[in-house]
Amino acid sequence: MKVYKRGHAVGTFRSAFAVLFVAASWGSASADTFRIEIDWMQTAGHSHQPSQTVLNAVIQMFACAGHTLIIDLDEEVPHYNVMPRNPDNCDSFFGYSGEAASFGALRNGNFDHAGDANFWHYCIFGHQYEDDNCATSGSSGLGQRPGQYFVVTLGSFSGQTGTAFDQASTLAHEFGHNLNLTHCGQDDCDAEGNYNPILTSTMSYRYQLGGVRNNVLCNGLAGEEAKFKEIDYSHGRNCSVNEVALNENIGTYMTPVDWDCDGSFEGNVAQDIGGGNAGWCGATGTKSTLSDVNEWSIVSAFNDSPHPIQVIEEISCITAEEWEQVQRETEAAGGCSQPTLAVEGCVAGENVFVGPLVVVNAGTCTFPFSTPALADSGAPNNSIIYVKPGTYDAAGAVTLDKPATWMCPTGTATLR
Ligand SMILES: [Zn+2]
Ligand SMILES: [Zn+2]
Repeated sequence: MKVYKRGHAVGTFRSAFAVLFVAASWGSASADTFRIEIDWMQTAGHSHQPSQTVLNAVIQMFACAGHTLIIDLDEEVPHYNVMPRNPDNCDSFFGYSGEAASFGALRNGNFDHAGDANFWHYCIFGHQYEDDNCATSGSSGLGQRPGQYFVVTLGSFSGQTGTAFDQASTLAHEFGHNLNLTHCGQDDCDAEGNYNPILTSTMSYRYQLGGVRNNVLCNGLAGEEAKFKEIDYSHGRNCSVNEVALNENIGTYMTPVDWDCDGSFEGNVAQDIGGGNAGWCGATGTKSTLSDVNEWSIVSAFNDSPHPIQVIEEISCITAEEWEQVQRETEAAGGCSQPTLAVEGCVAGENVFVGPLVVVNAGTCTFPFSTPALADSGAPNNSIIYVKPGTYDAAGAVTLDKPATWMCPTGTATLR
């Protein structure tokens, strides 16, 4: 019998019979090459040109997922405070070329790789743009989903250019829209909201500018052992939670979470934690099931080769006001100060969950293992394996020898 307690690492144990693991889509995504041409605006006093450090952070993010990202930091274009939309039709931003300051005119004059045999995305690091009411927006950027074009516009942010972290994370975020990603993991984010904490991704407003790992830790959603990077798309391993009936004792499966912020942990609370405002304590939006998705598999499925793209939508992104709200909300708890931008090392292993497929009132894992033996054979080396409290049948001759750390974050798990 082996007992897992919170925070205890366990090496190996034996059980009664070998269990064959049927291979799932673990790490099987194909390697792709993506290309972005970036032009930038600059004027007296500030430049929107991203540094090589900013670009390298995003190139490294793709490299860690097995992909090649090629960025051509190409040329300066004239600085306009606001890139406008067609005053007679505020719906389309990227399709308008009627003024010199418009994205379309800048693209027509400066997109050098437009006719290349390889498919290139085109991005302008600019100041601001007009929203779909033709009013100046304080948004960090705008991207076609899916598509070829996006802008990073941090003119309302720190120093009118944003921090280096803002620039790198927003570059990854807007490019993610081109690669068919949204803010919540679903096609339509009306119910889930833009702040899905279960989607541990630069695509969620909860993590875009505050960093994924940094925000997971400072909001108490996991312990230091959890495998997250600061700038990343989600790997889709987190368990779903149902906002109608949250089990605070189980929390994220990685640690209990006081979702309704009442200072105690209850087994069944209703709370909007994914939208309406920056976090969960005061959120009053629609309650729904929040899920994680494997965004890297979506990225791999995007056919980044010369072909006509059926653009579904243009997605506008977190505003300076919304980012200030994210920061304000965590001040009482000591704050979630932004991490310093660095080229992150690739993370070995994954967060892996062991538990029943269906757990009433606690949601389900996107890709759970029902026994420790299955997790041992299916998880990558160096994973953190979270075992839901309970008793598991594992008697037999299987050796669990995967280099991994086994944790039961919310109680005790017993093997018999
Ligand atoms: Zn500017
Ligand atoms: Zn966005």
